[in-house]
Amino acid sequence: MALGVALDLGTSGYRGHLVDLDKNGKILATAITMRHPLPGANIMDHLHFWMENGADVGHRIIIETVDKLISTMGAKPEEIVRVSVCGNPAQMSMFEKIEIRDLAFAGQTLLKKLNVKVPERKAHAIKAEELGMRSVRQTAEVRIPPSIRHEIGADALAMIMKTGLMDKKETCMVTDYGTNAEMGLFYKGELYTGSAAAGPAMEGQSIDYGMLAAPQAISDIIPGENGRWYNVVLNDSLHPVRSALVDPITGAETKIDGVIARGITGTGVVAAMAVGLEAGIIKLPNIMTPDHKIHLTNGIYFNEEDVREAGKATGAIRAGHRTLIEEVGIEDKDVKTMYMAGASGTYVDPIKAQTVGLIPRVLDKTVQAGNTSLMMSYDILVDDDGLDKMQDVANAISSKHIMFATSKVFEDIYVNEIAYWTEGMTMEMYNEMLAHAGLKPLPDIVRPKEIIRLVSSDIPVIGARGLKTLDDIGVYLMASFEGCTGCKKCQKECPERALQILSLGNKKFQAKVNTELCLGTACKKCQAICPEDVYDFASMKIVKKGEDA
Ligand code: SF4
Ligand code: SF4
Repeated sequence: MALGVALDLGTSGYRGHLVDLDKNGKILATAITMRHPLPGANIMDHLHFWMENGADVGHRIIIETVDKLISTMGAKPEEIVRVSVCGNPAQMSMFEKIEIRDLAFAGQTLLKKLNVKVPERKAHAIKAEELGMRSVRQTAEVRIPPSIRHEIGADALAMIMKTGLMDKKETCMVTDYGTNAEMGLFYKGELYTGSAAAGPAMEGQSIDYGMLAAPQAISDIIPGENGRWYNVVLNDSLHPVRSALVDPITGAETKIDGVIARGITGTGVVAAMAVGLEAGIIKLPNIMTPDHKIHLTNGIYFNEEDVREAGKATGAIRAGHRTLIEEVGIEDKDVKTMYMAGASGTYVDPIKAQTVGLIPRVLDKTVQAGNTSLMMSYDILVDDDGLDKMQDVANAISSKHIMFATSKVFEDIYVNEIAYWTEGMTMEMYNEMLAHAGLKPLPDIVRPKEIIRLVSSDIPVIGARGLKTLDDIGVYLMASFEGCTGCKKCQKECPERALQILSLGNKKFQAKVNTELCLGTACKKCQAICPEDVYDFASMKIVKKGEDA
């Protein structure tokens, strides 16, 4: 039996299919992680961790996780003869353990000073043993797709190819809604791209009850009778079902289906925001209920801090879309179709997405395309010409990347988005501020006439062996710091409960950090609080569950 594994390595988690290569590429099983294994919540956190703690540590965490994910699908290593991956340039480069500093630092002068040689990032294949993978045959071929340019990765290429964007005659936009929202505006044969750091709220993280799009996640809210809301929850096959009818003010609920929610994912967050705004329960930046919470099924709630986090994410995406429109010099009404990719782009109700600004305010049509990165990874796994086809398209794309981090237009729009979502700035004032900066005001909403959903879920085929969820990746960073008194101040300070101080006896102590929970270099509260000044995050070494440091 010859098996293959197609992987999508995303910023907020990994997803994979186990595929029977003998049987026309039949998908046998699917597995997902609930988080990214590296400390941190976004690409910059991951890159900084990689640079501070060393490539060896970062790479081992990634490969251990990939191995574990593959193993959960139940195949023997010797049966797996091929692996394919897809993701953004940072995730692909870390998976392969190649140069990443060109992705972390923007300036050419600095890169030159650091003697950074920018990798080509073309389509190629390597052997699993070169990566240190143990869950597949050592000689297994690992297919690695190309980037379009160093900052526009295989995931963006997947989104473009799977939506057929380059064949369109009209002006259209595409966005993969994730922690890092990759977006493109296609206008007169040219592709203009950008990448907005939306933050983890779009994937349901950094929200009190947030979780990734996985079984038991609230994925949508639909207004029901008497001010109550239908809570739509993903079932074991990732299909959305109406689970309960809930009063958002009191939390009183009537169960409809047996799927019990355990959290809310990004699309549920968007829906709660849109329905809350339209019902007047949210008046930015406040929730107008007695306890300032919106109550959902099974005791889950959405609070004012969540409103602000979600607002920052949607604000970054709207600022990105409008920066592309401004930079290309077209009008809002020129964009006819919006292609939406990724889990959030698939499950979200486009009308609610438009209410909160995730898609342009004037549109003819929306098309929801699913997890195009995983679909593309599957294509290059089963098609021996798949990598060449991707490289051909990458070579043919005429593209211009707009760096939002250095764009004055993005900055002018984004500061107003933040004021609108988190400080309650009115829309009139927002538009005045844009006019002051020489930018177009937000037009009135024109709802799309056509809403097309190409797939029923972001992973349309799960396989007969079902969906496995890797809840606990089980990789830790450990260290015994010389001079540590075991006071546990670091442990108490950790906002994610990722850290434990263990006693080894003889007044020796060991710090143990769960990598998937840790916020990484953006946090380091553990290090900052240490009264003995001995905590050294960068010196921590990786161990797997059950191993000693
Ligand atoms: S306090 Fe330390 S261990 Fe806890 S999340 Fe922050 S960096 Fe990670
Ligand atoms: S705060 Fe410093 S001294 Fe106290 S337990 Fe943590 S590492 Fe040790």
